[in-house]
Amino acid sequence: MAGVKATPGQGAVGIAEVRTKSTAIILFGSPGSGKGTQAKYLVEWLRIPQISTGDMLREHIRSGDAIGKAIVERMRAGSLVSDELVNQLVFERIHQPDAERGFILDGYPRTTAQAEEMMRLLAAAEAREVVIHLVVDYNIIISRIAGRRVCPKCGTLYNAVSRPPKTEGVCDLDGTKLVVRDDDREEVVRERLAQYERQTQPLIEFFRATSERMIEVDASHDAPEVVFERIRVQLKDLVRQ
Ligand code: AMP
Repeated sequence: MAGVKATPGQGAVGIAEVRTKSTAIILFGSPGSGKGTQAKYLVEWLRIPQISTGDMLREHIRSGDAIGKAIVERMRAGSLVSDELVNQLVFERIHQPDAERGFILDGYPRTTAQAEEMMRLLAAAEAREVVIHLVVDYNIIISRIAGRRVCPKCGTLYNAVSRPPKTEGVCDLDGTKLVVRDDDREEVVRERLAQYERQTQPLIEFFRATSERMIEVDASHDAPEVVFERIRVQLKDLVRQ
């Protein structure tokens, strides 16, 4: 990911230094809140995998398998896919060996049913959750997503304003022509935000009520590096408890 580097002196902290048992970091925020970028920083810092349900679902669509065919229309329309499907995908993924020491959930859970299932999964896996809520303003999200481009080859995200590629329209890393993700089109973005308000916002209340480890970070104005520093400071305090 372009520009995602541990800043000098920060180093990569082994997960063992900041926790005593397996930790599930739940990265929470509306579409366009910077979840993906912050997840990449966290991966680099903690050396645990990012589990993005959006990426897993897009991979099924790309591969053209039965799951991909079943979900392609809902994804295009910006609607959520079924709880059963994402719960199953996450269940399988968190039991892979690389997720043993912990993992970062990006885009999951999105509904109360998913959150309840996730808490059961984590209890069974003896993992504890740390919830990070990226708080952003609605209008800022719309303008941010409108400028968003992705490299179809390596997945690096760019933004016309906050993270432009060195050469307009081209990936810094592999020179591939950047594209607008299907679900970043404006009408789809509005639908995704409406979905978020309706189904996911209540989860913030759910976690406020049920989780002892929740961080709420202002992610509206500052550069991703600054937002990450805020997360890092609070996270260190939390996982040491
Ligand atoms: P994302 O990349 O996380 O913004 O997700 C893109 C799209 O994938 C969403 O608009 C949904 O259609 C679908 N999706 C991703 N995660 C979930 C989830 N946890 N539950 C249901 N649908 C999801």
